Amino acid sequence: MADVLLSKVRKNYNPAILKDTLRNINLDIKDGDFIVFVGPSGCGKSTLLRMVAGLEDITSGDLMIDGKRVNDVPPSQRNIGMVFQSYALYPHMTVYENMAFGLKLKHMNKQEIHERVIKAADILGLEAFLERKPKALSGGQRQRVAIGRCIVQQPSVFLFDEPLSNLDAALRVKMRIEIAKLQRELQATMIYVTHDQVEAMTLADKICVLSPLKQNAESNLEQFGSPLELYNHPGNLFVAGFIGSPKMNFLKAEITAIAEKQTTVKLSTGEVIVADVDANNAQVGDKVTLGVRPEHLVKADSEKATGGCVKGKVEVTENLGAEFFMYMHSDASEVGSDFTVKSDAVIEVVAGDDYTVGIPSSACHLFNADGKSFPRTAVYKRS
Ligand code: ADP
Ligand code: MG
Repeated sequence: MADVLLSKVRKNYNPAILKDTLRNINLDIKDGDFIVFVGPSGCGKSTLLRMVAGLEDITSGDLMIDGKRVNDVPPSQRNIGMVFQSYALYPHMTVYENMAFGLKLKHMNKQEIHERVIKAADILGLEAFLERKPKALSGGQRQRVAIGRCIVQQPSVFLFDEPLSNLDAALRVKMRIEIAKLQRELQATMIYVTHDQVEAMTLADKICVLSPLKQNAESNLEQFGSPLELYNHPGNLFVAGFIGSPKMNFLKAEITAIAEKQTTVKLSTGEVIVADVDANNAQVGDKVTLGVRPEHLVKADSEKATGGCVKGKVEVTENLGAEFFMYMHSDASEVGSDFTVKSDAVIEVVAGDDYTVGIPSSACHLFNADGKSFPRTAVYKRS
């Protein structure tokens, strides 16, 4: 088991064009933590993971595992285990042999190998499949073998790169729960890469949100925090829009009054909204973005609509039984004028209807013109 520390880590694949893939990545990963790297495709998640593994050079900065700088230590000596999206099993070997192979290469004695393979098979529910070849296994079983091959090495850090992406939706949920259980059982430090924010929210102790690096940005590490920190206190528009499903609604607004714990804004469409946000470092007249999650919107006449109301036009409704989605149009909306409402109860509307939704002041997020969030002074709780 191990701590992992990344300090000012930078990656540049091609120094000739000076374009970094990752810049100024600082992460303090404690022994036993389950860390998820999440972000859109191409933002550098795999690159960062491969740098921890030693499969990719670190252009500058330090990588410490258990207090030791390992930038120049080869992968085989870092005591890490890695599971990829493609299971990369040996097709001509049985499940048992696939799991034992890496240990044989290390000349471990047969009895020890046997004990480790049997224990891993037990943890992963693979006992009945030990004599099968990979082609006689389902996708989920193959992925378990790949994880087993990792477990038998008893690494101090487990690295997973989108391990569930090749599985169908139902199996992905099942394996996700198994991986969560596995981590609890092994108490190991795990770093898990995914582009799926639901996987990130459900698995992680702490999430590291990465974005595609912008040319002059100081870093593309957007935020590092617990799932609920990111959900309740996203540091910027990128994190606010990435964490949560459906996405947070963003409305164009301007500050009209600033009080100690509340800020009043006027939407570009004229509605006035009072937000439980501390914008004391801003000024009346500043352009801002108001953010409200679809699941926090309420009926316009509800007593919870303490912040005000927004008018819109209904475009599409979806009734999923357990939840109801209403996609609306508002000219104040920043994202293609879409505005989404998520409700437990069915809202009786049809496409083309005018509809007004209520906003609790404690459900509001506010972002300055640079996209940085103002501190919230309250957090809305659904009841
Ligand atoms: P992610 O895993 O988040 O989808 P990657 O880490 O695979 O992203 O890639 C990040 C960026 O680095 C991409 O623009 C990709 O094209 C680039 N990249 C990845 N591997 C290499 C490589 N070996 N050489 C040059 N560029 C690379
Ligand atoms: Mg990747």
